Amino acid sequence: MEPSTIATAAATISTVSTITSRRRKRKIVVIMGPTGAGKSRLSIDLATRFFTNSEIINSDKMQVYSGLDITTNKISMQEQLGVPHHLLGTIDPTKSVFTPSDFLKLASEVISDVKSRRGLPVIVGGSNSLIYSLVTKRYDPKTEVFNGPDPFPVSSDLRYDCCFIWVDVCLPVLNQYLSKRVDEMLDSGMFDELVEFFRSGKHKTVNKSGLGQAIGVPEFEAYFKQIQDFRRPDGGDSDEAYGEAVRKIKDNTCQLAKKQVSKILRLRDAGWELKRIDATEAFRAVMSPEHSGARVAEIWGKQVVEPSMKIVNQFLDE
Ligand code: ATP
Repeated sequence: MEPSTIATAAATISTVSTITSRRRKRKIVVIMGPTGAGKSRLSIDLATRFFTNSEIINSDKMQVYSGLDITTNKISMQEQLGVPHHLLGTIDPTKSVFTPSDFLKLASEVISDVKSRRGLPVIVGGSNSLIYSLVTKRYDPKTEVFNGPDPFPVSSDLRYDCCFIWVDVCLPVLNQYLSKRVDEMLDSGMFDELVEFFRSGKHKTVNKSGLGQAIGVPEFEAYFKQIQDFRRPDGGDSDEAYGEAVRKIKDNTCQLAKKQVSKILRLRDAGWELKRIDATEAFRAVMSPEHSGARVAEIWGKQVVEPSMKIVNQFLDE
């Protein structure tokens, strides 16, 4: 072949590959699942053990706000193990409600930044309407696919090349765990956090349709109103009112998990390629009376982390 022909061919190949790479969608990982299923823990395990260029973008619509860290169950700085987190506690809860359109704008910017650092964006959180707004190609805020009175069909035309990992736990086991988690959250400072929230008058400043809706806020507002004080239950009527508030928090948390799973099933039924990881055995182990931390970690590693790691590896190699 003539040198000039070789040069022309090389230029053509280079142009084609530039166009192809421009057209190629950017890769992101999305870890979804109901509240309590272990999404945050999985994201940290993957980021610290295998995909060290990961940066996590929170997609829980209550955890985006600053404040009520225990009540909304935000991952603590210690648990983050140095993995960068975005849109976690960064939104002012006194301003307007954080919408899926806000998430689309802010999370898209973060994804571009992470990509410019050659990082792997990992979206983690249970709010499927946020995930939906971000990844569908032509998101229209008027088309309420999950929460509207007249749900619209789910689009499967996506802006990114997505690796969806769905952490699933069979609901009766998850419900049992969520009830235990509420008790643990209350013991580890949720009650005191809410006392401070109401005593300081912050509840009057936050948007009632935003952070003011976090599970725990309305339930304890009713309790404090009923006992006309901010004290812990100390016998008699306060015990009953406190028990009622805790029962409602547990019920509402279980309802939230159930609703989140039904939204995930809608996405899957519409053709989203969700890779389901069953974490039930690890949760059964946590709930067993003679549970050992080492045994739980072993099951979690084998049944949740390893298969997820393989899925992400394969996705990145494609
Ligand atoms: P979406 O419907 O937008 O996908 P979602 O599944 O997280 O989001 P919704 O079903 O809209 O949530 O949530 C119902 C309610 O669940 C919220 O209004 C709030 O009361 C509660 N909720 C959701 N996430 C949290 C959280 N992290 N902490 C406390 N309450 C929460």
